[in-house]
Amino acid sequence: MTAHAGEDLARRLDELAGFVVELAAGRLDARLEPSHQSDEIDAIVVGLNMLAEELQGLTHDLEGRVVERTRELADAHAALERLAHSDPLTGLANRTLLHERLREVERASAVPAVLVLDLDGFKAVNDSFGHEVGDALLVAVAERLRAVVRETDTVARLGGDEFAILVHDATPEQALDIAERIRTVLAAPVVVQGRTCWVSASVGVRLGTRPGGATDDFLRDADTAMYHAKARSRGGVSVFAPAMRREAQARTRLADELRSALFTGQLVVLYQPIVDLETDHVVAVEALTRWRHPERGFLTPDTFLSVAEDTGLITALDLWVLETAAAQVARWRADVLGDAPFTVHVNVSPVELRAPRFVEDVVDCTRRHGLAPQDVTVEITEHRLLGDDALTREALEGLRAAGVGVAIDDFGTGSSSLGYARRAFVDEVKIDRSLVSDLDVDEQQMRITTAILVMAHAFDLVPIAEGVQTAGEADALRRIGCRFGQGYYWSPPVTATDLELRLRRQRA
Ligand code: C2E
Ligand code: CA
Ligand code: CA
Repeated sequence: MTAHAGEDLARRLDELAGFVVELAAGRLDARLEPSHQSDEIDAIVVGLNMLAEELQGLTHDLEGRVVERTRELADAHAALERLAHSDPLTGLANRTLLHERLREVERASAVPAVLVLDLDGFKAVNDSFGHEVGDALLVAVAERLRAVVRETDTVARLGGDEFAILVHDATPEQALDIAERIRTVLAAPVVVQGRTCWVSASVGVRLGTRPGGATDDFLRDADTAMYHAKARSRGGVSVFAPAMRREAQARTRLADELRSALFTGQLVVLYQPIVDLETDHVVAVEALTRWRHPERGFLTPDTFLSVAEDTGLITALDLWVLETAAAQVARWRADVLGDAPFTVHVNVSPVELRAPRFVEDVVDCTRRHGLAPQDVTVEITEHRLLGDDALTREALEGLRAAGVGVAIDDFGTGSSSLGYARRAFVDEVKIDRSLVSDLDVDEQQMRITTAILVMAHAFDLVPIAEGVQTAGEADALRRIGCRFGQGYYWSPPVTATDLELRLRRQRA
């Protein structure tokens, strides 16, 4: 080998080494020109150039795929975010997002307001038309709600038929205006799957007082105000006031106390006679609950029934009353009554009436105590019969089929029950106290009550007049053909012991 050839080889090896270093450093676009001597070094150079080419292509592909995968990841993340922050049914914000927005609002210089609304009568729609119609109704309501606020405000579904709106910046007038608009847009009926549904909403409003204040309690306060609105009248609006919070706390405490009262024997059942106007004999009793409260004394149902209904305790309470009254009547049957016809009336909340096992529970209870189904009559308050829903109808039919009596309570004060009466789902009507008082002196009253009695007889319903307080009223009732009565004139609700004395006297 000549010296020149040796130098040339060393240079080429140097170049080759430099090229390898460059490739190894990731500069894949580097190339080395072969010397065209077609020797082994050139073969290596050509090979390395091809490798670089190939690597470059692979990297390019890889980059493309990394970009693609990264985009997919971002999409998935966004979808997850949406899922975590939105209500799947309506696409509205969910509770989590609403809380986040509330925290954002704390940092802004605006005065926020929160509205919470709960649909009235949604459960009845769901129960009678099915969940599909219920869902479609919620979607329609969501759309209407979105239309009453600005894009920057947040409309959320909190669950069930409860919605919330966070208005990012509003004067009290503007917030109340939104509440009013909600009522207006919901007033138009919603037609879903050929069914016309009427809804309304009770709205609670929590007004912000200054920018940047804590919003932790806004949702809870608006909720409290909403309950307040609902309790007053359906479809109403209430603005939160601190007194409402105290009231809500008191209700929570009452609910806790009632729960334990049920199991510690603080509840008692009183019995008010139902009298045959022709003989003045007690032919039935109505069982009425009282609560012997350890601090507050004797409480009547108006102080605790709505709490019992809101918390679902009403089911246990009504069944306990039924159980107690049935056991009592069974004892009276054995001790004093013999075979004389005698019925015990129990009041049943519409919530309880629609419970799945209700009819079985009633029948089972009479059987266990050796009573006939005819010995028990279930009273349901007229204005609380929720429209014409399937569950209520089934329960009434079930009771009738089993032989248990059904009476409509407070008859003449509501509007929904004539349908039930006409289709023979009931046996008796209890003419409301307001139609009985002053019957003997008020001619107008006399005409109305007479008409109601004519109607009751036309449908084969046995009328029982409630709240009879004077001999004059009792006489007037006899004259217009009302056979049965109940009221202070004969007796207030009394203890089992007192009623038993009366039954014994009657027998003697
Ligand atoms: P209601 O079923 O209409 O019962 C009649 C109410 O009128 C009773 O009130 C009774 O004490 C009262 N009353 C009876 N005679 C007269 C009268 O001559 N004059 C006047 N002014 N009032 C009279 P109470 O016991 O306070 O019960 C109120 C309501 O609470 C009942 O009205 C009934 O709807 C409900 N209730 C009572 N006990 C129960 C129960 O165990 N379960 C359920 N779900 N509701 C009950
Ligand atoms: Ca009653
Ligand atoms: Ca009544």
